[in-house]
Amino acid sequence: MTNSQLYSQAWLNYRKVRNRALAWLAAFAVVPLSAAYTSVRIMGSLLPGFVAAFITMSGAVYSMWQLITWACPRCGEVFGAPVKRRCRNCSLAKWDNNSPEGT
Ligand SMILES: [Zn+2]
Repeated sequence: MTNSQLYSQAWLNYRKVRNRALAWLAAFAVVPLSAAYTSVRIMGSLLPGFVAAFITMSGAVYSMWQLITWACPRCGEVFGAPVKRRCRNCSLAKWDNNSPEGT
């Protein structure tokens, strides 16, 4: 039996959650302003911009929350801030596939 793929599924999931959070943040940065600009030009109303801001902000907040509360695949505790390279609880390095409990 090999441990080389111990956490690979978990890291794939982490990457998915992180990319989704980045995509929502990018959408929040771009979509509301473009929607507001377009709708002011076409209808003279800012409302679609506010609606777009609310939707993308909700998505960004929710996906960031998922990212920062993501559970460590080794200890099951919250891994910690996305910029950290190691689990704040068990020190498992990010992207590490080869360190079972106790190493
Ligand atoms: Zn951990």
